[in-house]
Amino acid sequence: MGTRTNWSGNYTYDANKLAEPATLDELVEMVTSARAVKALGSRHSFNGIADSPGSQVSLAGLIEPPRLGDGTVTVSAATRYGELGQALIAEGRALHNLASLPHISVAGAVATATHGSGLRLGNLSSAVRALSILKADGELVDLDAGHPDFAGAVVGLGALGIVTELTLATEHSFDVWQTVFANLDWPTVTERFTEIMGAAYSVSLFTDWSEDGVQQVWVKSRDGAVTELFGRSPETVQRHPVGDNPGDFSTVQLGIPGPWNERLPHFRLEFTPSNGEEIQSEYLLPLDAAPAAIEAVRAVADRFRYLLLVCEIRTIAADHLWLSTAYERDSVALHFTWVRDQAAVEAALPALEAALAPFDPRPHWGKVSVMRPKHPRLGDFRALAERWDPRGLFRNAWLDRVLG
Ligand SMILES: Cc1cc2nc3c(=O)[nH]c(=O)nc-3n(C[C@H](O)[C@H](O)[C@H](O)COP(=O)(O)OP(=O)(O)OC[C@H]3O[C@@H](n4cnc5c(N)ncnc54)[C@H](O)[C@@H]3O)c2cc1C
Repeated sequence: MGTRTNWSGNYTYDANKLAEPATLDELVEMVTSARAVKALGSRHSFNGIADSPGSQVSLAGLIEPPRLGDGTVTVSAATRYGELGQALIAEGRALHNLASLPHISVAGAVATATHGSGLRLGNLSSAVRALSILKADGELVDLDAGHPDFAGAVVGLGALGIVTELTLATEHSFDVWQTVFANLDWPTVTERFTEIMGAAYSVSLFTDWSEDGVQQVWVKSRDGAVTELFGRSPETVQRHPVGDNPGDFSTVQLGIPGPWNERLPHFRLEFTPSNGEEIQSEYLLPLDAAPAAIEAVRAVADRFRYLLLVCEIRTIAADHLWLSTAYERDSVALHFTWVRDQAAVEAALPALEAALAPFDPRPHWGKVSVMRPKHPRLGDFRALAERWDPRGLFRNAWLDRVLG
């Protein structure tokens, strides 16, 4: 057992060392001579997905400045969205969406189908137009959307090889106005769900699952500040979704416009995102199941509410990437931020997962779940991973459990 942990400290890596190559040649030498190796991003996953029975490798020493193309940007794998956003802003360009935090690496986020919210917005992986992957035999393969393995490789769980760079779609830079509204009761949330989530470019709901309903509605608009929601006025002080954490840690609200990269994430790059000491779980379900799924969780919430810091409800547009959690279905995501008590969370999850089971939940690859994923393309992905990595260099215990 090693001593290095993931970002939140709920998972200790087994890997005996973390290699940090300074050149691509060093990375190739390391991969071809290793017995087992796995790429490590910014360590923000909550499970063993980035672990290895051998060593881990960070590509942080290989970061080069982003290169703009025609409606695209090509970035080094370990680039964080925070720095990428700043580079794009300087060139008048934007990504379509971001996750709640800008601290994560592009390759790590793409590998797990990380997402933000938006009825018409695909996850961050859906912006990928090409990627370069270093295979176990030392070959560097460039894949674009025309390659037959592309759709299988993008959300790759780190199982095909080491991604060295990715090309993402960009658009003209845009401003976003963020406002927060307090207290929507459950009947309004469930009866008018799509209307609420479609009230602006990106909408998130935060709840503690109490009888009161949703405590905070975060509304991110591209068309001026949303000033009214079902008769409510926006909050007039900065809010944080989790407990007593300072509102200043959140991106600017109060309807003050700002560039996309400073409003689409919930948390600011220079502060700790979310709570810090925590565990996260998340399940993606068909969008049209949202009202019934919310009712199903409410019915069992008393069994785990004492472990919850907050829950976030978001929407994600469908895509065609094999292991995307929004693969071929518009989705609602039910996200749970728990206190950092691994045993208690794992003991509580079966009740939650049983409540969600009728809705065909797909667990987030980077978070904690106890169910066996029943993703429709898992079998195809297993075959792809075996073809790309026949000696199992990039396998680990987490992949063995998920892929079987
Ligand atoms: C506070 C917090 C907030 C979060 N908010 C969100 C959110 O809003 N939306 C959401 O969907 N998720 C969210 N997450 C989850 C997070 O986005 C994912 O776990 C993501 O994968 C983390 O990226 P990472 O760079 O830390 O990757 P890691 O956790 O280090 O690794 C994740 C996977 O990526 C692989 N990988 C990393 N780099 C490479 C590479 N170069 N080549 C091949 N494989 C690679 C690893 O092998 C592993 O399989 C949040 C997590 C935290 C801690």
